Formats: sequence, structure tokens, C-alpha cells
Amino acid sequence: HPTLGSFGKSRAKFISAEETTGVTFDDFAGQEYIKEELKEIVRILKHDKEFQDKGIYCPKGVLLYGPPGTGKTLLAKAIAGEAGLPFFAANGTEFVEMFVGVAASRVKHLFASARSYAPCIIFIDEIDAIGSKRGGPDIGGGGAEREQGLLQILTEMDGFKETTSEVLVIGATNRVDILDPALLRKGRFDRIIRVGLPSRDGRLAILMVHARNKYFRSELEKNALLEEVADLTVDFTGAELQNILNEAGILTARKDKDVIEREELMESLKRQQGTFETGQEDTANIPEELKIRLAYREAAVAVLACYYPDPHHPFTQTNVNTMKSKTNMQYANFSGRIFLRKSDYVQSIVKACAPRVIEEEMFGIDNLSWISAKATSYAARAAESLILRTGMTAFGNAYYRNIGDLVPSLGAKLEALRTEYMRFAVEKCSSVLREYHSAVETITDVLLDKGSINADEIWNIFRKAPRIAQQPVRP
Ligand code: ADP
Repeated sequence: HPTLGSFGKSRAKFISAEETTGVTFDDFAGQEYIKEELKEIVRILKHDKEFQDKGIYCPKGVLLYGPPGTGKTLLAKAIAGEAGLPFFAANGTEFVEMFVGVAASRVKHLFASARSYAPCIIFIDEIDAIGSKRGGPDIGGGGAEREQGLLQILTEMDGFKETTSEVLVIGATNRVDILDPALLRKGRFDRIIRVGLPSRDGRLAILMVHARNKYFRSELEKNALLEEVADLTVDFTGAELQNILNEAGILTARKDKDVIEREELMESLKRQQGTFETGQEDTANIPEELKIRLAYREAAVAVLACYYPDPHHPFTQTNVNTMKSKTNMQYANFSGRIFLRKSDYVQSIVKACAPRVIEEEMFGIDNLSWISAKATSYAARAAESLILRTGMTAFGNAYYRNIGDLVPSLGAKLEALRTEYMRFAVEKCSSVLREYHSAVETITDVLLDKGSINADEIWNIFRKAPRIAQQPVRP
């Protein structure tokens, strides 16, 4: 096929093209089953003829879904790299413009450009921007535009021959539930692969990949240090883990040292954890708007903690003196025998939603900030844990340590159930916060006035607050 040399100059800016990505499956660590599945696709792409003779065809579309930073782009590039095919990438959000007809024409342009270099790979990141459900709420406008773009993608994919893999389209999204079902039909994105957060061993493997070009005192020390980092980085994505190592490398160079040691790794880990956190203990330096948001967040967490009291883990006090992406609520040590029922799990999911629900309620959905960003991911993680590891839900009794252990069909089932639990949790949480709105306001006032509030005061306000009756929330 022609070389891509001139492509960049003459073509639309919204497409990026690479002759070869140079990325391989070795660059992606953890979640081995994903690689196994994609390796099979690469085998078919490379030996197209042979497989065709056996009646095996390459899928036309693969959808990778999961949180940002988990390596979806990396995997798409690895498929291109391993198959030795050119890589065309575009972002769904760039298709949608204010001018009518632009989305469809950009999609057309992308496919036409790619076709002339076939066989090749097309990667559409954030495909939900263009491929979300038709007739759904039109958030941010551009509904008709999106619809035309989506239809154009469908037309293009339907136009590929069933029997030859001229172009493989890879889509990425972090929301599979909002995608138009037409996209997921047979002959379109019918291979759906969940790319989740790495397990502890996955994190270690990712750290190992990104430590390949870094210097440590010894192999032994490197292993011990990375094990430690892996233990401390629950919830981290591959991108964040990579950042930890890069940052540690920079810190090491700045100190004119030759090898990365524990000190640099821990400092960099701390920075990564607190991307948004300053850890300042000085209330005076926290901007007023942020302080108000923090106060509401802490008040909401406090109200939920009273509504669903946890006798084993009582709260002691909270404050607005530090800016963290997690609540400032302090708890006493665990006590007694912990005996968890299903309702306890569900309640903890509801409680975890409080920072996000209150921020949305008070400041509006388009005006959310990082101070509630971790909340939804904690809640979703807790729901996942209930579904995968307790046998208490419709998911069934099997125990899965990692999402990575799930076959795709079970992944879809997990996604559906988790969406269900999250819907209930968010609704229940908003209902509690509306019922106790007056308590939320009073606790917020105390926090803004004094900077902190202890458990007795919180309980006092909670018990005395007038309540506003709410409709029951159906599970
Ligand atoms: P996404 O497309 O899911 O948002 P990216 O592929 O852009 O994520 O990830 C950003 C970077 O993070 C990658 O280029 C890679 O360096 C690193 N990374 C993410 N996940 C992994 C992983 N599982 N193994 C190795 N590196 C990873």
C-alpha cells in the first residue's frame, strides 16, 4: 500500500495517522485474557487468506471499554503494531461540531482515507460522543449532528465486505451503556472487550513494563520496591502507574542521582495520589468557592453516616481544612466482630455516592469538580465487589477476584447489574440528602464558620433537623 508520508500534510487535522505504531502486546501488562483475545484477531488479520479458506473471518469492529487511562489506546496501537498495519485515529468528540453535516462528512473522510491504505486499522476514541443512543437526552446539544455521524459510521461499516478484513475499526469508550445498540449489532462492533482497572498483580506487571528503561540499584531492589508500590496503588490505572515511575525518574535526575530509590518512588506516589490535593492545613489559603464545596461535601458525608450508622466504624469528626479528593471525615478504629449483610454492602455504596450527589445537587451537573471525582469510582468499585465476590446478587455464586477473570458475556452481565445498583444508590442517596437538606445546610454552616465539627455536634444536628418527606426509592 502507499506510504503515509504525505498524509499528515494534506489531510484533515482531526485524523492522526501512523505508518506503523511500533507498539506490541508486550507493552500492555495485566489482564492477560484481553491480549489472548486480541492476539487471535491479529492472527486472523495477518493470515487473512489462510483463515478465509477455513471460513474464519476477522470481526469488522472491536469495542474496548473501561475507565480512562487503562490502556485502550495502547491496545488498539498494539493490534496495529503486531499486525504491521497503518493506524488511523480520530476522536469522537472532534466529529461533532456546530455546523450541520460536519460529523457525517468527517466520518466519511476518515473511512475514505483509511480505505486507500487498506488493510489498516481505524481507531475511534470516545466513540460515545458520536455513537450514544438515538432519541436519548440531548446533553450539550448537537443531537441531530451526532445522529448523522452515527448513521455514517454504520453505513461505512456495513459497506465492508464480510469476507475480507480490509479495515478493522476499533472503538473505545468508558460508557458502553450509553452507546446506541445499533453499533453493537452483528457485523459492527460485535467484539466487546472490557478493559478494567488492574489487579494487584496486574499493577506489578504494569510497573515492570514501565521500569524497563529505568535504573535501580539492583534487580532485587527494583522488585521489592515495585511490589511495595503495587500494594499501595489500589484503584490506580496503568496511566497513573506509568506516571509514578516517570515522575520518580525525574526526581532522581533532579537530585543528580543515578538510581531510583524508595524515597523518590514514595514521593512520586504521593504526588500522583494527590494530583489535585495540596495537603495544606491552612484554611485561609483555600479559595472560598472550594471551601463551600468542601463544606457541602463533608456535610453530605456526615448526614449519610448518621442515616446509615456503622457501629463498628463510628465517625469522630470532619473539617474543611484540607483539600483532598476524598472525604476529610475521620473514623475511630474498627471494633468488635464485623458481620456484614447484603444491606450493609448496599448502604456503603449509597454512602459512597454522597460527595457526587451533593455537588451535583448544589452546583449543577455541568459544574462538578474534582472534590467529588473519586466518589463515583469508589461506589462503583464497592458495587462490583458485592456482585463479584459475595454471591449475594443475581450475578450468581461464583467468586471472581478480578474483573479480568470474567469472560465477555459475564462482563456485560456485571456491567448491567452494577448500573442497576448504582442507579439505586444515587437515587437513594439523593432522596436522603433531600430529606435531610436542612441538616446538610446546618452542618455546612458550622463547617464554614468553625472549620471543623465533631461527631456529637453532627448527631445533634441530624436528630433535631426537620425532615422533608420523600417518595420511597425502589431497589
Ligand atoms: P485509555 O486509552 O484507556 O485512556 P491509554 O492507552 O491512553 O488509556 O493509556 C495511557 C498510557 O498509560 C499508555 O500509553 C501506557 O503507557 C500506560 N498504560 C495504561 N494501561 C497500561 C497497561 N495495562 N500496561 C502498560 N501500560 C499501560
